[in-house]
Amino acid sequence: MVSEKMKPFMANNSAIRAMFEEGKKMAAVYGAENVYDFSLGNPNVPVPEVNEAILEIVKEEAFNALHGYMSNAGFEDVRQTIAQSINERFGTSFSEKNLIMTVGAASGLNVILKSILNPGDQVIVFAPYFVEYDGYVRNYDGEVVRISPDTETFMPKLDEFEEKITKRTKAVIINNPNNPTGVVYGEDTIKALAAILEKKEKEFGISILLISDEPYRELAYGVEVPYVTKYYHNTVVGYSYSKSLSIPGERIGYLVIPDEVDESGELITAASIANRVLGCVNAPSLIQKVIHYCIRHKVTVNVEAYEKNRDLLYHALKEDGFTCAKPDGAFYLFVKSPVADEKEFCETAKKHHVLMVPGSSFACPGYVRIAYCVSHEQIERSLPAFREIAREYGL
Ligand code: PLP
Repeated sequence: MVSEKMKPFMANNSAIRAMFEEGKKMAAVYGAENVYDFSLGNPNVPVPEVNEAILEIVKEEAFNALHGYMSNAGFEDVRQTIAQSINERFGTSFSEKNLIMTVGAASGLNVILKSILNPGDQVIVFAPYFVEYDGYVRNYDGEVVRISPDTETFMPKLDEFEEKITKRTKAVIINNPNNPTGVVYGEDTIKALAAILEKKEKEFGISILLISDEPYRELAYGVEVPYVTKYYHNTVVGYSYSKSLSIPGERIGYLVIPDEVDESGELITAASIANRVLGCVNAPSLIQKVIHYCIRHKVTVNVEAYEKNRDLLYHALKEDGFTCAKPDGAFYLFVKSPVADEKEFCETAKKHHVLMVPGSSFACPGYVRIAYCVSHEQIERSLPAFREIAREYGL
């Protein structure tokens, strides 16, 4: 019954999800407080204003206006408020027509890829990366082209990038701040990327779309995250509130398609229709209104809570002898495995009740990802286990 196209997805079913399920089983056996599950990027910092917004909106708004269908791109006033907020913070000049509300970043990426890809078109990604991108590109018969990781800095390898751009390159995906490394690409990196893209567009006479996947934009620790549309004309931004308001289950985000993008009017229309024909129809209405409320009331997540977790875990792991780049954003540490096979390292860690995700799940074997979006107490309780693991490997 299952299609040939679906079968590879089933064969490679997410290792992250598998680890999460295993964590739940271990918690049932050993007690939740004795299992240190760092596998899933599920935000743990509540944003109570979201619930307040829901209650107020449900009380105030007329039933059919609140729960009915709307334009496939989402409520005009919500999009206008978001556009204004982006303009104020980043000096851009978007209006509601440049925004399409989506069912989270995952759906936004699918919408834009469906809108642009012909079979065989290539999409460049920089390892390590969120490998769900592979599935999204495959959905539209595109081909993923990977740039190998620079394991010193985890910045994009620009020489290899330039070499791998071909006439078939339709898009490039970057993710800033980055999952799984936590690094933030600064202005110089974005400018260098943009210069290469402009050169290659001219050389091949093609348009190459830079897709900036930014669910972690708000989770940056004192560093600036450049707004990429200002540096390269063919940029589309994919955003999500999953992490910035701790509501990944609610499924809400947006795409920004600037006027400067080649044939932007057509692309905006295509993306609105893609939202519909992919089956989303429109992003959920109540939660769109919650976003409106949160922007007007300047609601943000407590980023300091994640920063405090980063500081505690990063310094403890360094002291134990582990090697790891200090993250400037998101809520992940990407740690070098003390043995070449990082899956073996994960199995050893599991014996100490520590769950983390192998780097091969991000196209970067030899490393593991630790998601520190957990309680500060869990990190404190886990530190002796990390010390024992380090000792076991003679660090
Ligand atoms: N992109 C990256 C880099 C992510 O880490 C995630 C989720 O973890 C997503 C996209 C999908 O986010 P959403 O929950 O908004 O679909």
